[in-house]
Amino acid sequence: MKALVLTGPRKLEIRDLPDPIPGPDEVVVDVKACGVCGTDIHLFEGQGGAFANEYPLIMGHEYAGVVSAAGENVRHVSIGDHVSIDPNLYCGVCEPCREGSVHFCEQMTGYGTTKPGGFAEKSLVNARAVYKVPDSLPFEVAAMMEPVSCCLHGIDRSGIRPGSVVLVIGAGSIGQMMLMLALKAGAAKVVVFELDAAKRQKAVALGAAAAYGTDEASLAAYRKDHPEPVSSVIECVGLKVTMELALRLASRQATIMLFGLAPQGERMDIFPFDDLFKKELTLTASFINPLVAGRVIRLLQADAINMDQVITDRIPLSESVKIFTDSSYRKRGKIIVMSGM
Ligand SMILES: [Zn+2]
Ligand SMILES: [Zn+2]
Repeated sequence: MKALVLTGPRKLEIRDLPDPIPGPDEVVVDVKACGVCGTDIHLFEGQGGAFANEYPLIMGHEYAGVVSAAGENVRHVSIGDHVSIDPNLYCGVCEPCREGSVHFCEQMTGYGTTKPGGFAEKSLVNARAVYKVPDSLPFEVAAMMEPVSCCLHGIDRSGIRPGSVVLVIGAGSIGQMMLMLALKAGAAKVVVFELDAAKRQKAVALGAAAAYGTDEASLAAYRKDHPEPVSSVIECVGLKVTMELALRLASRQATIMLFGLAPQGERMDIFPFDDLFKKELTLTASFINPLVAGRVIRLLQADAINMDQVITDRIPLSESVKIFTDSSYRKRGKIIVMSGM
């Protein structure tokens, strides 16, 4: 099989590797589509962050394909099934796992981060990692199960109720998914803040009531046009300035969901008296995607969130190095690496 292999910081090559053979509890997935995530860019740059980089590594943790081989103990999927992968494999026996908080597993491993992932023609995974998806779901949409799951966990923690007014800060692919999920969760109105005019336009096309820049004039226009109290603010950027903006824009008793991954060591200023005491704000965050994959598959199947609009590029595996080395790709929306294209 062919695979995109990270051999060191900023060193990527397409290699021929032996086809994997499944153990009794494993399946081989013929990968059809694998999304490129900010985490992959960090890994490429050698900034593993939460993950200790070990080389060589096949990155890619947002993927879907077809089961082509299965071990003797595997029951819930068969050869030929279309599947999506939840790359985070929890151990099941540590204290957080046994308390039901599997995303805090102390022995967590991840396909595409600590183990070979989806930028390859084939991927060997524990059968627990695969979810059967309908054959009618395009592979690149099925591959979005993981990022949408992360977003849905954030939505679950954002306090949205039917009729809520929700703000989303940042309208990249994550912000776009958050916007659609917030509407699905019952928000009466979602207003988006985004620097890039094209992304603002896209947000409105996806259902935002309006989209604004973040300069003072834009914020004044927003306040005039949308005077209703804001009950949830979903921050999808992770910068000090946007996290502080989220605090400023929240109304009394709002929930602020910090979803954008702030660089380690990043700080933000909070004024306990004005921000927290006088408004009774809830400040929270969201960590990976525990136990929501089934709901996400149903949302994707129902076409409840329009992933066609979020996905901007489909690049064959054979040309995938350029996604990382040509920086113009980083400004786009969701890029999908297509194996067997
Ligand atoms: Zn990701
Ligand atoms: Zn565990």
